[in-house]
Amino acid sequence: MKTTIAPSSLTSLPHRTNLSLRSSSLLFRSPSSMTTTTTSRGNMAVAAAAATSTEALRKGIAEFYNETSGLWEEIWGDHMHHGFYEPDSSVQLSDSGHRDAQIRMIEESLRFAGVTDEEEEKKIKKIVDVGCGIGGSSRYLASKFGAESIGITLSPVQAKRANDLAAAQSLSNKVSFQVADALDQPFEDGKFDLVWSMESGEHMPDKAKFVKELVRVAAPGGRIIIVTWCHRNLSAGEKALQPWEQDLLDKICKTFYLPAWCSTDDYVHLLESHSLQDIKCADWSENVAPFWPAVIRTALTWKGLVSLLRSGMKSIKGALTMPLMIEGYKKGVIKFGIITCKKPL
Ligand code: SAH
Repeated sequence: MKTTIAPSSLTSLPHRTNLSLRSSSLLFRSPSSMTTTTTSRGNMAVAAAAATSTEALRKGIAEFYNETSGLWEEIWGDHMHHGFYEPDSSVQLSDSGHRDAQIRMIEESLRFAGVTDEEEEKKIKKIVDVGCGIGGSSRYLASKFGAESIGITLSPVQAKRANDLAAAQSLSNKVSFQVADALDQPFEDGKFDLVWSMESGEHMPDKAKFVKELVRVAAPGGRIIIVTWCHRNLSAGEKALQPWEQDLLDKICKTFYLPAWCSTDDYVHLLESHSLQDIKCADWSENVAPFWPAVIRTALTWKGLVSLLRSGMKSIKGALTMPLMIEGYKKGVIKFGIITCKKPL
C-alpha cells in the first residue's frame, strides 16, 4: 500500500486532511521523516514546504486557543473537553450537570485504563498533561493522586492562565504549565507514571511522532491515556473515507486547526509497533452525544452570543462549525475514541 501525502496541499492548506490510505507503516509519514530522506533539490523543496506547513499549523493552533480559551472558560469552566454521559440520556442537564459530565470523562478514562484502586492510584506520582488547555485535567489529577503534574500547550495565553489558576488554588507546588510541543517534549525519557492526552491528539500533524513521544516520556510500568477525535475505522478492503466524509472532515479541520485525522485502529497499530502492554480502545461516541448540542445551546443564549461577539472571528467560526461535529457523529464519520496502554516494566 502507498501513502498519498500531498505536499502541495500541505503547503497551501496545513489543516486539511492529506492522508488517504491506511498502511499503518506509512499512513503517518511525517514532514520530518520527509526531511531526513531528501536527496534531490525537488525533494528538499517538498521538505521545506512541509516544515513550513507544520509551523503554520502550530501557529494557527496557538492563536486559536489564545483567542478562544477565555470564552470557553467563562461559559464552560476549565475543562476544554467533551462530557461523558449515559447513552440515550434524555435529561436536560443543567450547566453543573455538564461540568459533572466532564469530570466523569476523566474518571471513566482512568477506569478504562485500569486505574481503579488505591494500589494503582498510589503508583502515580508524576503526570504529564499533553495538550493541557488551561490545566483542568492537571489540577484535578494532581489533587486526586497527590501527584505532580506538568502540562504543555502551544498557547502562551493558556499556559499563563493555567499557572494563575494553579496559584489561586494553592497548587503551584504540585502543577505547572509551559509552552512546549507535544511532538518534541522537553522531558527526559521515562519520567512520567501517567501520560495523559485529553483531546489534543486530533491536532497532531504526525501521529507516529506523537505516539513515539508519549511512549518515550512514559516511565516503565507507566500508563498512557489518549482520548481523542477520530474518524471511523475503515472496513477491510476500504482504502479511504468516502469523498463526502472527507469533505465534512476538511471543513471541520479548517476551523479547528486540525491536520489529518486517523482512526482508533490506526492508533492501536501505532501502539502495537512499540510493544506496549494492555492496549485497549473503545468508541465512546454515544457517551458524548449530548455534548455539542449543549455547547450550541449555551452559545445561543444572550450571554453566549455577547461573549462570542466579543471573543472574535475564530470563536464565531468555531461556533458555526459545531453543527458539523454533530452531523459527523450522527453519520458515523466522527468517532470519539479512547486508547490506552501500559509501558512494560
Ligand atoms: N486537554 C485539555 C485541552 C484540550 S484543547 C482539556 O481537556 O481541557 C487542545 C489542547 O491541545 C490545547 O491546549 C492546544 O494548545 C494543545 N495542543 C495542540 N497541539 C499541540 C502540540 N503540538 N503540542 C502541545 N500542545 C498542543
